[in-house]
Amino acid sequence: MAMAAAQKFSHLLSSLWHIGPRQPEPVFTVDRAQVPPLFWKPYIYAGYRPLHQTWSFYFRTLFQQHNEAVNVWTHLLAALALLLRLAVFVRTVDYWGDPHALPLFIIVLTSFSYLSFSSLAHLLQAKSEFWHYSFFFLDYVGVAMYQFGSALVHFYYAIEPAWHAQVQAIFLPTAAFLAWLSCTGSCYTKYSQQPGLLGRICQEVPQVLAYALDISPVVHRILVSPHSAEDDPALLYHKCQVVFFLLAAAFFSTVMPERWFPGSCHIFGQGHQVFHVFLVLCTLAQLEAVTLDYEARRPIYESLHASWPHNFFGLFLLTVGSSFLTAFILSQLVRRRLNQKTK
Ligand SMILES: [Zn+2]
Repeated sequence: MAMAAAQKFSHLLSSLWHIGPRQPEPVFTVDRAQVPPLFWKPYIYAGYRPLHQTWSFYFRTLFQQHNEAVNVWTHLLAALALLLRLAVFVRTVDYWGDPHALPLFIIVLTSFSYLSFSSLAHLLQAKSEFWHYSFFFLDYVGVAMYQFGSALVHFYYAIEPAWHAQVQAIFLPTAAFLAWLSCTGSCYTKYSQQPGLLGRICQEVPQVLAYALDISPVVHRILVSPHSAEDDPALLYHKCQVVFFLLAAAFFSTVMPERWFPGSCHIFGQGHQVFHVFLVLCTLAQLEAVTLDYEARRPIYESLHASWPHNFFGLFLLTVGSSFLTAFILSQLVRRRLNQKTK
């Protein structure tokens, strides 16, 4: 329904734009056989966008039905919702005056980054083989940024003093390294087109290790907290973020439900779309949880972070810089490989 209305809106815009002799409508989608195998999705046989069109063609497909449309919109709408959340934060949180507000700003910024990078990747990756790789590398950089942002807010606001005493020396440097390693593993798996076990090990093992570390303050708190849900409302949101993440991970690593309905999920019903939705729910629950922690646990985190073993902002910049650099180097390797192929 919403998609049909968007399509009508797009037609209206294009007819207003092209006053005079009417231009033929471009072909927005083609079948799988008309795009290279790199673009093929398992069990999806139609709804692909043709390659080598103008950039404006791909931006116009924002309002068309194709097999990436839901992936674009799920993360685009969530990114817009986050901007609204940030507008509320700006009115209620003193980002300039409160030194303890910076991690909260970083998690909003990194959540917005991964959502907008993902949306751009799904919208524009059909342009060519080079841009397909490059935009998904950008997507992985966004995920690495978000991983570090999550680790930071869990370590800063959600952690219990007992777990902080155990991990404070290694937590943030290890989280930064694992975020970069996840980005590198995902980029390399994409670059090498490594199917099977080796590809999964490169991509999924660093992500599992990163998540295990990043969520450990939350899991420890859920296990040891003596408070009920009424006394500590953030706990309920933390439990929700864990459940939503596990559901997202399940849909990410399996090709379901399209495996059960081959050829029927060209527009709706792909596992990756369900993964996007659960990841958005996880992010929204996490933001609510850490906002409540920021407001209610100040006496705990002020004393824990009075003296810093590490500069978390420096580690954040290092994670972002090294991930972007890795993605850039691999995109140049892709360019060289594609040039050699065409010679
Ligand atoms: Zn995606």
